[in-house]
Amino acid sequence: MSSEKSPGKFQKNTSGKRLSGIIANDYLTLHRRASEGAFVVWIAIIVPAELFNGFENVVYAVPESHAALCAGKGAGRILCEKAEGSGYSTDLCSYARIDIGTAFDGGKDSPTFGLPRPNLLVSNNNNCSLLVKWFDVYHRAWNVPHLVLDIPFCYEDQKESDFRYIMEQFGTLIRTIEEMSGQKFDIEKARESVKLSSEALKEWKRFLSFAAHRPSGITAFDSFVQMAPILTSRGSRQLLDHYRMLADETEEQVKSGIFPVPDEKYRLLWDNIAPWHQLRKMSGRLADLGANITSASYTYCIGALEGRYDPYMFDGGDPLAWLARLQNFSVCPHGLNLRGKAMKEVIAKNAIDGVIFASNRSCKVYSLMQMDQMRHIREELGIPCIMIDVDHADVRKYSEETAFTRLEALLEMIESRRAQ
Ligand code: SF4
Repeated sequence: MSSEKSPGKFQKNTSGKRLSGIIANDYLTLHRRASEGAFVVWIAIIVPAELFNGFENVVYAVPESHAALCAGKGAGRILCEKAEGSGYSTDLCSYARIDIGTAFDGGKDSPTFGLPRPNLLVSNNNNCSLLVKWFDVYHRAWNVPHLVLDIPFCYEDQKESDFRYIMEQFGTLIRTIEEMSGQKFDIEKARESVKLSSEALKEWKRFLSFAAHRPSGITAFDSFVQMAPILTSRGSRQLLDHYRMLADETEEQVKSGIFPVPDEKYRLLWDNIAPWHQLRKMSGRLADLGANITSASYTYCIGALEGRYDPYMFDGGDPLAWLARLQNFSVCPHGLNLRGKAMKEVIAKNAIDGVIFASNRSCKVYSLMQMDQMRHIREELGIPCIMIDVDHADVRKYSEETAFTRLEALLEMIESRRAQ
């Protein structure tokens, strides 16, 4: 395999290059198919995109994912400022501000020229209610129907009644698209798409599993970047092939003794959304200190049931049932116990030395319980933890020096624990 080695920094390997091509191609295809008459749905990340593959000509776009891409490419600030110039508060989630700034300025300054105008908006409310209000902005401005999936929060395994409630709403979503687009839903196509997603998520977890190696075969920054096609290519053969190759290539690197932080002294866990504007800077600066954020709650939760780590595999039965069962995979709707359960499993599995709780100015729902969670991890496991202030997509709300003062303090705490 090819590899531009840069020990301690990002390694642009074959998977990294292939990823850039996939993302560029996914956005180009989205724009092309929309311009050729495909029915366009804008969705929140939790909305089960595999379902749209059950239709002949329905495409989907994920505004949150597009906003993350903009932030990663350095366009977050300018797009946030456009929304703020129209009266949207800086207290609103930066994903929403970036997206509103893009949508109402015709896609200017977006690396993908924005997203094609939707025929239908589908949000859900188990990650946050802000997202529902954000999609309502477009509903009012463009008079586009907005369907809200009402997904109950979860503090334990999904209840049977909640599962049935979600399944009913999937039925409504399918009927709505059938009526609006004039296309017929084909459950076999959806089944095939779900099968591919389930296999792809298994490979995703295989890729993440190299965080258990010492030194780690990956950084959490790799996983932040590599999660993008889950949101642009869900349920496709392309996604499965990419994650299989990604896991294979990572395995090959580990066998060849190539590691992102070869002189790894500190193995860290990140809790919250990726700091999209800091990926390269933060990973490089940490690597210089011998520190590797090997794991992140943001990426290990993908494809797993409530508070678990292993992927929830499709059994070949009802594809809608698999999608409904996975509606609680993300951390935001989880209570303290579920969050703690998964976190403790990963701390043990990946031999984590310290935890970084990234208190996110934008994502209050993710950040809400972090103070309690931090206390629990410290008291129950005796692991050093710190909290730093970030905003996942608005660089103006992040201070690199303040964050690194605390990160260096974390490494000192780990050292002094080792010396005891
Ligand atoms: S506040 Fe958090 S959950 Fe809500 S849209 Fe923003 S990032 Fe997503």
